Amino acid sequence: MDLSQAPESSNVEDRRGMKATGGLVAGGGGLLILIVGLLFGVDVSKLGIGGGRQTGPPPNDKYDVFARKVVGTLEAVWTKEFANKRNGYPVAKYEAPELVLFSGGVNTGCGAADSNVGPFYCPADDTMYLDPTFFQDLEKQLGGSAAEFSQAYVIAHENGHHVQNLLGFNKRVGRGDKQASVRLELQADYLAGVWAHHGQKQFNFIRPGDIEAALKSAEAIGDDRLQRRQGGGRGRVNPGEFTHGTARQRVAAFTAGYKSGDASMGKLTRFFEVGMRDGELDDILFR
Ligand SMILES: [Zn+2]
Repeated sequence: MDLSQAPESSNVEDRRGMKATGGLVAGGGGLLILIVGLLFGVDVSKLGIGGGRQTGPPPNDKYDVFARKVVGTLEAVWTKEFANKRNGYPVAKYEAPELVLFSGGVNTGCGAADSNVGPFYCPADDTMYLDPTFFQDLEKQLGGSAAEFSQAYVIAHENGHHVQNLLGFNKRVGRGDKQASVRLELQADYLAGVWAHHGQKQFNFIRPGDIEAALKSAEAIGDDRLQRRQGGGRGRVNPGEFTHGTARQRVAAFTAGYKSGDASMGKLTRFFEVGMRDGELDDILFR
């Protein structure tokens, strides 16, 4: 990924190394987790990995600069899409979310969380939360990729939840409604693909191997893959418990968004209209 043409967003806050208050102990398991759904879908503690993460001062790793640039491209792309009348959005102004980088644990408008929940978006405070050490788990433990573009895809997916919030799609998912959750999550992957399509046109940031890296991660965090990993790799695939979509459909959703760049209200609404079978949406969506 080449972000040399990307603008730096001012909506990124680096809280790594800061202690979360309110009795939250970094790295401890079983903490209060009150995030209102919309997680990236990977609770690594359930997979027997993660935990025991280090907190300290922010490493001098320029990660915040990387994050600012990724968010900068997201702001540019979505500002344009919201202003585009042909998309038929109910609002024309894109209000950008914040991105908070943290380590270990963090307090949010949705409650306190620790790193094991993976990256997530909190609609109550319009903020994305990310502990970058997640990507080491994603690559080493889950078989995904920690390449920059794959990380950017994950941030673009969380940003997709913010777009859904602005457009009203997240209201369609009630608590515990797993089928609707799959629709919303696959739509977020699709929105990440839409960002890649338009971001490439504006900033020429994709380099050989980048798309493959993002797809590798999308596949690694498919519900069926994650279910199989539980119980030491002997977990059963149960479509009734899917919340984020299968590996195959997560890849298909990102790819369809990347190819078409179509973020129109009509296209996005289709995610809630097509049929669903065995935990998968009708593939007609991705053609
Ligand atoms: Zn998500």
